[in-house]
Amino acid sequence: MLALVDNKTEVDDLTIISDQLEDEPPETILEWAFAQYGDRVAIATGFGPEGTALIDMAVRVNSAAKIFYLDTGVLFPETYDLKESLERKYSLRIISYQSDLSLSQQADKYGAELWKTNPDLCCKLRKLDPLKEALTGLDAWVTAIRRDQSPARANARVVEWDQKWNLVKINPLARWTKREVWDYIIHNNVPYNPLHDLGYPSIGCTHCTKPIQIGEDDRAGRWRGFNKTECGLHG
Ligand code: SF4
Repeated sequence: MLALVDNKTEVDDLTIISDQLEDEPPETILEWAFAQYGDRVAIATGFGPEGTALIDMAVRVNSAAKIFYLDTGVLFPETYDLKESLERKYSLRIISYQSDLSLSQQADKYGAELWKTNPDLCCKLRKLDPLKEALTGLDAWVTAIRRDQSPARANARVVEWDQKWNLVKINPLARWTKREVWDYIIHNNVPYNPLHDLGYPSIGCTHCTKPIQIGEDDRAGRWRGFNKTECGLHG
């Protein structure tokens, strides 16, 4: 097993492994992840189509897979319903990580509607800090990001060292297209968020997610009006 990466040789090892797994199906990459890291790897989901497809794959490979999400307290009701549907369908519990601050405590400390005045700070408090707690004690985490989702994700490798969070990051869907994800969902009858059928290709918190217009980037509806397309989880 690879030790935690703290020198160039080990980062190079990850690069070699990533190259070897690049053309493998996501299930094979997940099998490698569970064999390599056992219970010290967890899957993060935001309940997007990629995330639900990945849960379906992961449960087939390892029914005891640890899966978590970041509950900001302001997710859409449809997202919470989807979480429960997934838990019922796959007989699992998706672990919730939350901010230490309730929404009212956040408003008292930083002002009302922080997502309007300082969304970066709001994301830090409600997403990044909980993610830090979720990753504590892990050697690796699995994400559902794809390279063609946004320029910021274009260089994601199948396996890579996550410098921001200091552990291995595994992206089994890195080379998949949106079409491949939806084909998988339809073919395998995977639950998905009904908001995707209403013009919301990317869904986050209620306050920071709008539907998109034809021709817009999939993430154009996130933080509309701000120069922000990522919450900071991925570097
Ligand atoms: S997406 Fe919006 S509401 Fe959610 S944590 Fe970030 S700024 Fe806050």
